[in-house]
Amino acid sequence: MSSVQNKTDVILIGAGIMSATLGSLLKELAPEWEIKVFEKLASAGEESSNEWNNAGTGHAALCELNYTSEKSDGSIDIAKAINVNEQFQLSRQFWAYLVENNLIRNPQEFIMPIPHMSFVQGEKNVSFLKKRLEALSANPLFQGMEFSDDPEKLKEWIPVMMEGRTSDEPIAATKIDSGTDVNFGALTRMLFDHLKSKNVDVHYQHSVEDLKRAGDGSWNVKVRNMESGTIENHQAKFVFIGGGGGSLHLLQKTGIPESRHIGGFPVSGLFLVCNNPEIVEKHHAKVYGKAKVGAPPMSVPHLDTRFIDNKKSLLFGPFAGFSPKFLKTGSNMDLIKSVKPNNVITMLAAGAKEIALTKYLIQQVMLSHEQRVEELREFIPNAKSEDWSVVVAGQRVQVIKDTPAGKGTLQFGTEVVSASDGTVAALLGASPGASTAVNVMLEVLQKCFPEQMDEWHFKIKKMIPSYGMSLFENPELFREIHESTAQVLGLSEKEKKQELAYN
Ligand SMILES: Cc1cc2nc3c(=O)[nH]c(=O)nc-3n(C[C@H](O)[C@H](O)[C@H](O)COP(=O)(O)OP(=O)(O)OC[C@H]3O[C@@H](n4cnc5c(N)ncnc54)[C@H](O)[C@@H]3O)c2cc1C
Repeated sequence: MSSVQNKTDVILIGAGIMSATLGSLLKELAPEWEIKVFEKLASAGEESSNEWNNAGTGHAALCELNYTSEKSDGSIDIAKAINVNEQFQLSRQFWAYLVENNLIRNPQEFIMPIPHMSFVQGEKNVSFLKKRLEALSANPLFQGMEFSDDPEKLKEWIPVMMEGRTSDEPIAATKIDSGTDVNFGALTRMLFDHLKSKNVDVHYQHSVEDLKRAGDGSWNVKVRNMESGTIENHQAKFVFIGGGGGSLHLLQKTGIPESRHIGGFPVSGLFLVCNNPEIVEKHHAKVYGKAKVGAPPMSVPHLDTRFIDNKKSLLFGPFAGFSPKFLKTGSNMDLIKSVKPNNVITMLAAGAKEIALTKYLIQQVMLSHEQRVEELREFIPNAKSEDWSVVVAGQRVQVIKDTPAGKGTLQFGTEVVSASDGTVAALLGASPGASTAVNVMLEVLQKCFPEQMDEWHFKIKKMIPSYGMSLFENPELFREIHESTAQVLGLSEKEKKQELAYN
C-alpha cells in the first residue's frame, strides 16, 4: 500500500547525534519549519552515537597524538589540533546554551570532566611528547597541560599503568584536567526528547528506502513502516541524510552529481571492558597512546575512564576489525551494494593503495583474547585476561574519493556532500566525529541555506558566541567562554571535586 503523506519543510534521516544536532539548531533558527525524522531502529542513538559504540572522548586534541604531527624539520605542526579544539568549543557552547535555556537538563548525564593524557614509551617518543607540549602550551587553547617523565609523578597520575612496569625504557605523559567524557548516546536521546517537545514528528522503525527529486525541486522520500510493512511517501523541501554508515547508500539513491565517484570502507571496532571494580576505581583519566605503524589514525590505543549510566567504567581499545556491514545493525551485503559503475574504479584504486591497511585489519581480526590483553599490558602491565571482556563497538565507514592526491584516496575525516541547490545534504565519515557535530551541522546550514545565513547570524551568535571567530586568536574570549560553559555544564573546579569525591 502506498500513499502520499503531507508535505513538510525538512526530513532528517536517522536519529543519531548529527540529525539531533541539526534538528535542534533548526528549531532555534526557524521554529516555524515543520520537521520529520525517520529512524529505522526502535529508538534514538542506537548506532554509532550509542555510548557503548564509541569511545565517548570529547575530542579537543588535548591527548590525541595523531592531531600533532612532526614536520621534517623536527618541529610540531599543531594546526590540526587547533582546528579540532576550536570545533569542540562550538559544541560546548551549543550544549551550554541548550542547558541554560532548559531545553535539555542534567548535563552531568552526558558530559563529565576527566583528565586527558597522552602516554608514550621510548626515547624518540618522549622527545616528541616534550616538543608537542612546548608547541601546544604556547597556545591559549591548551593551557594547563603538564608533562612528566618522573616515575613517581606518573604513579600519582596513573597508578594502574605504573604497577608492575619493569622495563627501563623511558616513558612520559602529559596531563590536562580540562578534558571531558561525553555520553553521546544520552545526549542524542535528550536532544530527541527536546525535539519531540517542539512538535518534531519522530518516527521510529521507519526505514528510508529511496529518495527521488520531485518536479518542483523538492524530494520524494519513500519510507517503509517496519511495523506495518506499508510504504509511505513523504515530500520535503530539504532532506538531511544523517544515516551514519547508512548515509552512502541513500546519497547514491539521490543520483546527484556530487554523489558520484565516492565509496565507503567499513572499519569495525572492539573494546575491552574491565570487570574488576578495584581496577576501575584506581584509574581516572583518558590516556591516549601512539598508533602502531600501518594502523589507521582511529585505531590509536587508549585506556578510558567512562561515565555510563551514572557508573564509572574502564575501557581499552579500539581494536579494529573488518565487517562488510556499514552499520552495526546493517547487512553483510552493504559493501558490495555500495559499488556502482561510477565508483568502481575509485574503490579498486583504494584497494590497490591500501594494502598495508588491509593487512593491518586482517591481523587485528585474527587476534585472540589473550593477544588483545597482551596489547593492553603496554598500558596496564599487570592486566589479567579474566578481568576483561569484549564489547563490540560501532562501525565507521571511511570515505573513499578521488582527490588531487590520486584516485581512490581513503579519507579519515568527515565529509558533508550536498546538492548544488542545497536541497539535500549527507554526512559521510566518522572522525573526529560526534564531538564536532555542531561545527559539521553549521557547515550543512552554510552549504544548504546560504540565503538565510545573514538573517540567522545573530541567533547563531546568541547560541554560540564564538561563531565565525578564532578563539585561539582571542584568548580573552576563549577564557570567558571556557569558564562559562564549564560552569553551566558542571565541569568547573567545584564540580570536579564533587565528582572526584563520588569515586
Ligand atoms: C569505535 C568508535 C569510536 C568512536 N569514538 C568517538 C569518540 O571518542 N568521540 C567522538 O566524538 N566520536 C567518536 N566516534 C564517532 C561517532 O560515534 C560518530 O561520528 C557519530 O556517532 C555519528 O553520528 P551519526 O548521527 O552520523 O550516526 P549514527 O549515530 O550511526 O546514527 C545514524 C542513524 O541513522 C539510522 N539509519 C541509517 N540508515 C537509515 C535508513 N535508511 N532509514 C532510517 N534510518 C536509518 C541508523 O539506524 C542510526 O540510528 C566513534 C565511532 C566509533 C565507531
